[in-house]
Amino acid sequence: MAESNVPVLEVRDLKKHFPVKKGLLRRTVGQVYAVDGISFTIASGETLGLVGESGCGKTTAGRTVLRLTEPTSGSIEVGGTEITGLSKAELRPYRRQMQIIFQDPFSSLNPRMYAGDIVGEPLLVHGVSSKKERAEQVAALFARVGLRPAQMSNYPHQFSGGQRQRIGIARALALGPKLIVGDEPVSALDVSIQAQVINLLKDLQRERQLSYLFISHNLAVVEHISHQIAVMYLGRIVEYADTRSIFTRPQHPYTEALLSAVPVPDPAIKRNKLVLQGDVPSPVKPPSGCHFHTRCPYVVPRCRIESPPLREIAPGHKVSCHLR
Ligand code: SF4
Repeated sequence: MAESNVPVLEVRDLKKHFPVKKGLLRRTVGQVYAVDGISFTIASGETLGLVGESGCGKTTAGRTVLRLTEPTSGSIEVGGTEITGLSKAELRPYRRQMQIIFQDPFSSLNPRMYAGDIVGEPLLVHGVSSKKERAEQVAALFARVGLRPAQMSNYPHQFSGGQRQRIGIARALALGPKLIVGDEPVSALDVSIQAQVINLLKDLQRERQLSYLFISHNLAVVEHISHQIAVMYLGRIVEYADTRSIFTRPQHPYTEALLSAVPVPDPAIKRNKLVLQGDVPSPVKPPSGCHFHTRCPYVVPRCRIESPPLREIAPGHKVSCHLR
């Protein structure tokens, strides 16, 4: 799909609002502003880390980009082609190019299917009808993700958590995608296993020029795999920059707070500690002005009234805060 200089994915002003229905007549009484106008770009062979607490809209953003959930408005270009208006049939070739890895490798794998059939299913659905050919391709995928081809005839419960996530990765790779959305793909794993899976994803990226949209609530997890990071709060991107800038010069108080939870390996590096109070407010009734004002220690009166635009404050570094 993508020419080398065309982004694999370009998302502009994407919104996903869910109606809130009530009563016998199921009347719409409000909207959940799950994703409220986000824009980002992912180049070929690069990773965008999408970070925020639970309830910030990042999972909905990932699903909407893949059109597993239909967007309310906005634009999604895959390799330069707008896909928001495409019919199911027209979308099919793009579905091959965009795959997803889920958080919970156990619930996302059918417990009654052999692991080999799970990995081979996308091949069958997309027309690789020869059983022998499928078995060969699945065996190669097993070997590539660090599983033994002999394990193809095991059931998911016979694998460890890390191995199950490897099955999920092999399934995502089966159709030779350009882009993989990882929705908290390592959150359910032990820390040492997380590192192994992230290293596998990085190796695969180098080998296959893969692009990732890597969704996580944990900045420490995305640090080692992301080229760019977008920090999301209540449906909006509040900071967007290359990974180094986010870690060395965070500009948004929310990013600062997320970073406060990340251990610093070098004691010479001092970071502002900012501990967040309370939970993310409801996306049905987001706070007025800056959505973050109810939790921000630097809040000024203007923040309660006026929503700060996402502005470029240095080349490639955007932030949405009145004080920057
Ligand atoms: Fe805090 Fe105001 Fe900046 Fe929002 S605009 S992050 S409330 S200082």
